[in-house]
Amino acid sequence: MRKGNLFVISGPSGAGKGTLVSRLLERVPGAWVSISATTRAPREGEVDGVHYLFVDDAEFDRMVEEGGLLEWAQVHDHKYGTPRALVESHMAVGDQVILEIDVQGGFQIKEKNPDAHLVFIEPPSLDELERRLRGRGTEDEDSVVLRMRNAELELSRKMEYDIQFVNDDIDVCTDEVVSYIERQATI
Ligand code: 5GP
Repeated sequence: MRKGNLFVISGPSGAGKGTLVSRLLERVPGAWVSISATTRAPREGEVDGVHYLFVDDAEFDRMVEEGGLLEWAQVHDHKYGTPRALVESHMAVGDQVILEIDVQGGFQIKEKNPDAHLVFIEPPSLDELERRLRGRGTEDEDSVVLRMRNAELELSRKMEYDIQFVNDDIDVCTDEVVSYIERQATI
């Protein structure tokens, strides 16, 4: 059976990863995105099993203990992790598997799977990032401050990723990432 490729998409909150990933799902044949488990509360409009698997701390710890997560990390005060089973089954049938996770998780994936492709999405500037975070209206002031601090930490590690794209214009950025994925998938 053909083995699929693994793509990690990371970048600061507000860099546009969510929009990018939904476009990749439409454009890349065989693309599949993993749904992460998280201990954070759902935002308005988020659906359990669609956006995340929303679990409590005890359930998350059980998943870790049972080896059910491929990677996990504490991000912005909450735990997030990638459930292992579905990633492995999609890889086994040759899908292009996408993980939208933070840099700590990205490095764990690369260590376990050196063939994984680490893709970093960056905002045009920190000012623009702050404008987008405030504009989406889902974050309170503390959360914006926390996310901006985290953004600087994530950006400081971008050169450890295999490739970086600036999301100034989502159409251009999508085209660039699609052609990168197509190139890797045919190698
Ligand atoms: P948010 O709370 O805004 O949905 O996500 C916060 C951060 O957690 C984002 O940077 C996102 O990429 C990261 N994240 C989401 N799922 C996972 C996961 O399964 N593992 C890791 N390591 N990070 C994740």
